[in-house]
Amino acid sequence: MATQTTPDFNKVLYAPLAEIDPEVKNIIDKETWRQFTGLELIASENLTSLAAMEANGSILTNKYSEGLPAARYYGGNEYIDELEVLCRKRALAAFNLDPAKWGVNVQPYSGSTANFAALTALLQPQDRLMGLGLPDGGHLTHGYYTAKKKMTASSIYFQSLPYATVPGTGLIDYVGLDAQAKVFKPRLIICGASAYPRDWDYGALKKISEREGAWLMADIAHTSGLVAAQELNDPFEFCDVVTTTTHKTLRGPRAGLIFFRKDLENAKDLEKRVNDAVFPACQGGPHNNTIAAVATALLQVAQPEFKLYAKQVVANARTLASELAKHDYKLQTDGTDNHLVLWDLRPLKLTGSKVEKVCDLLGITINKNSVSGDASAQTPGGIRLGTSALTSRDMLEEDIKVVADFLHRSVQIALTLQKEAGTKLLKDFVAAATKQQEGKVGYQQVQDLKKDVQAFATKWPLPGVDVKNLQKPEGLHE
Ligand SMILES: *Cc1c(COP(=O)(O)O)cnc(C)c1O
Repeated sequence: MATQTTPDFNKVLYAPLAEIDPEVKNIIDKETWRQFTGLELIASENLTSLAAMEANGSILTNKYSEGLPAARYYGGNEYIDELEVLCRKRALAAFNLDPAKWGVNVQPYSGSTANFAALTALLQPQDRLMGLGLPDGGHLTHGYYTAKKKMTASSIYFQSLPYATVPGTGLIDYVGLDAQAKVFKPRLIICGASAYPRDWDYGALKKISEREGAWLMADIAHTSGLVAAQELNDPFEFCDVVTTTTHKTLRGPRAGLIFFRKDLENAKDLEKRVNDAVFPACQGGPHNNTIAAVATALLQVAQPEFKLYAKQVVANARTLASELAKHDYKLQTDGTDNHLVLWDLRPLKLTGSKVEKVCDLLGITINKNSVSGDASAQTPGGIRLGTSALTSRDMLEEDIKVVADFLHRSVQIALTLQKEAGTKLLKDFVAAATKQQEGKVGYQQVQDLKKDVQAFATKWPLPGVDVKNLQKPEGLHE
């Protein structure tokens, strides 16, 4: 609290958000309402815990601590050192790693910065790297470029070549990758993806990288929670470096981690290279409030209950896939091994953009996604669905069946709207969805399904929010 002698210029430091900034408070309240009343199916999202949010919103945000524990550029870091050492220990424990063989840097601000730091540690500028192509489910940071433009730092500062999935099966083309690597001679092969519903053959990748003398790095940003829970193959068995975000299936705050091998005969300095690449090469002071929240999330990941959560995420994704398949919809790879499903809408003559738009109006959050063989990256032919967040709201297989039915209805409504729009243009489609018109039914179907979605979604709790006492905020766009 402010004291009697607190000068006017400091009074602002003690006022709660609702009092000092009702505008931002209202935006937070609207977003809270959206999360409560809607169904979150974006595969990269999850709901972190109350405890992680408490740590993330803590006073640790005040502290500068450039450097590493016991080697800082600033004073006053005894507790910050204790925190970072604890966070590292928990990160290794969460992934069942031997501290003699693996180390971890817990300072990356996010997944993209973790990846760029890893590339900085492993490569010289303009060295060659290979990653799964973006249209096949890879990530921007794995070397993405277009015919006209080098799009990301990973293609601007390095020479990159994408590998692909096999048309038809949608599975990683290991044979093609092997042949490409023989010619391209990469210094680094990156595996891991943002939109790939199956597991990886790390052993096969290791064979190729070893033959070429290349590093092997797994970016498990999407699947790290499932890897930690041993629901998926173990990349640590074969890779030199493993990076991840902490906010996807791992269910922590927004941040990144870089794991590195400590026992490589030909790269004894890998630990130093990674640490120097994070700071000072790519970042400044660590976000200690975030590191505290990561530590808390990793404590949770190491509990037996997290394994049950991870199992349920996969069971829910499989249920979602099999329910959609009952309607003869086409899914990439015909199903899933992990937390996500890629739904190919092209046989229905619908685009991902239109279905994403309808779902937005309905309170179902999904994203358009390219499916392999798409003619243009500008009009993705599919959508990506994930079960991590719904599982964090307590949903089990029977509940996912209800969600699958909502999605089925959404796509059928999209077909109706496309017919009623009269053209293939997105703007006419949106007009048909948002304006009542004589003799047309799509608009009313949107209204009806929206009510059903909201009634269902509001039955479930939301971590960190007292939903019983939640008030509908002012100014919602409805
Ligand atoms: C999400 C993701 C990232 C990037 O993470 P940000 O925290 O958004 O920077 C990197 N790699 C993969 C495979 C991802 O899915």
